[in-house]
Amino acid sequence: MTRTIPIRNPRTGANDYAITPLDRGQLEARCRKLRAGQAAWLALGIEGRAKAMLELCDAVDRHYDAILAALCADTGRYEWSVNEIEGLKGITRMRCATAEEALAEASGGSSDPTLRFQQQHVPYELVGIISPWNYPLILCMIDAITALLAGSAVAIKPSEVTPRFIQPFRAAIAEVEHLRDVLDVFEGDGETGGMIVDLTDTLVFTGSVRTGRKVQERAASQFKTVFLELGGSDPAVVLDSAEPDFAAEIIVRGSVENSGQLCCAIERVYVQRGVYDAVCERVVSRMQALRMNTDDIKEGELGPIIFARQAEILREQIADALAKGARVLTGGKVVEHGGGLWCEPTVLVDVTQDMAIMRDETFGPIVPIMAFDTEDEAVRLANDTEFGLSAAVIGEEAKAIAIGGRINAGGMWINDFDTMGGVGARAEKTAFGCSGLGGTRYGYGGFRRFLRKKAIVIRCCRSLSRM
Ligand code: NAD
Repeated sequence: MTRTIPIRNPRTGANDYAITPLDRGQLEARCRKLRAGQAAWLALGIEGRAKAMLELCDAVDRHYDAILAALCADTGRYEWSVNEIEGLKGITRMRCATAEEALAEASGGSSDPTLRFQQQHVPYELVGIISPWNYPLILCMIDAITALLAGSAVAIKPSEVTPRFIQPFRAAIAEVEHLRDVLDVFEGDGETGGMIVDLTDTLVFTGSVRTGRKVQERAASQFKTVFLELGGSDPAVVLDSAEPDFAAEIIVRGSVENSGQLCCAIERVYVQRGVYDAVCERVVSRMQALRMNTDDIKEGELGPIIFARQAEILREQIADALAKGARVLTGGKVVEHGGGLWCEPTVLVDVTQDMAIMRDETFGPIVPIMAFDTEDEAVRLANDTEFGLSAAVIGEEAKAIAIGGRINAGGMWINDFDTMGGVGARAEKTAFGCSGLGGTRYGYGGFRRFLRKKAIVIRCCRSLSRM
């Protein structure tokens, strides 16, 4: 039976778009087609595959206006939609430049002179990608790029919250010879996501812990490896040695990027007592200078909360914090404009670790700030979480690095925020705790997780070689 899913516009609240997911039979047929194309794709070699990936960048440029318009409608924000398209091209070029080295096969001998081996890489035939709504284009492609370069075919299922970009993006893919046979993007919700788990050999899931658990269970019962890239409640620690305005700039940038709808957003701030008042004051004034893009999508720094349920979560977390004794220094409300929902840039103080805003993922432009006295206390507070995605430490460099070394998280930003983009070609990081599972998305490991390893071990046998 055909299912149609209405899609809400985050700026108007109106359902002005719809998707009709493929049924199981149709999806199976499309995945079979991808599998059929994979051998020829692999045979192209790394150079040939990289050439096709770079051609995709050109095709995206030819469809730039349509993809940008769709992303703007999907997310209600302009600047980060441009950044997503530019980011996709930048990551693709960076990955193409390092693919050869990352995918190099090894060969070698052993302590036994008659024994040697060849290390072969065998890519999974079909990799599945299930992605979320906060960066619809980048997050559906970030792992697809490395999987494709590694030699796999890829089936992508983006979020049903933001599916408008799929059609213009598929039009770009269709223009790239070779790639169109091994890369497909499917509209659909969780039901389609479940089928993608069933129909692929391995999978990267980016999304919530709750859904990640379901995906993991479903894949495990089929003996499949999945890589989970999940949520966080990232802390920032500000030391007495930090310059308050410098710290405030990092905190605000890290908290409000994409209106806070970022997995590695700074969501908890711990400030050493000596600079606490100065940092709070500067964070407040920087937050008050931010504008919401309610009237003009190209104006202002804060877009709407893309997913209506997320706006409810923000309301619930603020209410919970206030009920438990927190104070609002600025903002504090989710407001409606023309049917869309925007969260005011918000600063909370007098917060405690038992509040939902400090324990759960927030995903909004909200900065809760708590004072601490000793470094041990800062480390304890930062680690008081089930997550472990990333963290920031701001202050004198050597001390900040030492404290960062004690915080349980895969990405550690010293005196900045989310600088992985600058080093991600080689640097690797994995998620700690409930923030994820499996190998690194970054560095060479980002390619290698799509390869099965085959050791061809050769006994050099004299009697046979004389034959
Ligand atoms: P979500 O878990 O609700 O949905 C993610 C995807 O899973 C969607 O495509 C959805 O359709 C699909 N899905 C839902 N049920 C499914 C099922 N039973 N089987 C298979 N697929 C299913 O997440 P979301 O609300 O779209 O995204 C927000 C979350 O993503 C946040 O927690 C955020 O931190 C996380 N995230 C993590 C990263 C990262 O790199 N670690 C990046 C961005 C977002």
